[in-house]
Amino acid sequence: MILFRNGHQLAGYLEQEKKKGKMIGFVPTMGALHHGHLSLVESAKQHTDITVCSIFVNPTQFNDPTDFQKYPITIEYDIFLLEKAQTDVLFLPQEADLYPNGVAQLESYDLGYLETILEGKSRPGHFQGVCQVMERLLTLVRPDDLFMGQKDYQQCMVVKKLLTIMKMPVRFHACPIQREADGLAMSSRNMRLNETQRKNASAIFTALYFTKSHIGTMPLNQIKAQAWNILLENSFRIDYIEIVDAITLEEHQEIKDKHDLVALIAAYQAEVRLIDNMLL
Ligand code: AMP
Repeated sequence: MILFRNGHQLAGYLEQEKKKGKMIGFVPTMGALHHGHLSLVESAKQHTDITVCSIFVNPTQFNDPTDFQKYPITIEYDIFLLEKAQTDVLFLPQEADLYPNGVAQLESYDLGYLETILEGKSRPGHFQGVCQVMERLLTLVRPDDLFMGQKDYQQCMVVKKLLTIMKMPVRFHACPIQREADGLAMSSRNMRLNETQRKNASAIFTALYFTKSHIGTMPLNQIKAQAWNILLENSFRIDYIEIVDAITLEEHQEIKDKHDLVALIAAYQAEVRLIDNMLL
């Protein structure tokens, strides 16, 4: 695995490889890697010739400063895991490299309705931050294929929109959610849960699974109320539970076609915010 800390050197290297006809697959991450991230690397290896992974905890996408300060950093173990997964290139940029003029005044993106709901509504500025860092990374890597997780369902939609805004012809792969044995979606933030919170945390999966198995058998608001109770019984503080159109993210009062719906949950165990979703 070749490690680059400098963006221009990375771009230069990849340019040479592209001239040789190599296809570039890109997996952007914030580190504290787990099997979910590695599944994206695996997918990139299957579809492309050179797999580039980046690790950068992007300050501009954290609307909560404590969340940023407490974000887990396990860089040495990350490098070990990426080597083992036979990743070709690791990009480890410094903040000053990506944001040479600081982060005080950055460009903004017209994300429309997408930014007014769910994560966009709960975390003001979050998706602007995602676009700011993704535009920089994409401009350096110029991948043929981009691999991101369905775990961050709305983020996938935001990044697809960014690719249209940037007029960048990149194939987008939304990769399936990797889960622990009890159903909890793998997440870097799970490391911050204590034993009790970790046990409680799988209730998100229980609530999503309840939703999926009862869709069509009872009204949506009753399903949501039951899912809400499952989380409350497991000491969750709930941000949202929504059942929306899987393509537009618009709310439905009633079910038209159950295959086009997605259930999304954001909820806290103490101060740790977890998100998950399930196509219904
Ligand atoms: P993060 O490091 O949390 O920014 O995540 C980097 C990428 O890994 C994003 O595209 C996430 O959606 C994806 N990812 C995170 N957790 C999972 C998971 N459990 N299964 C699949 N992909 C994931």
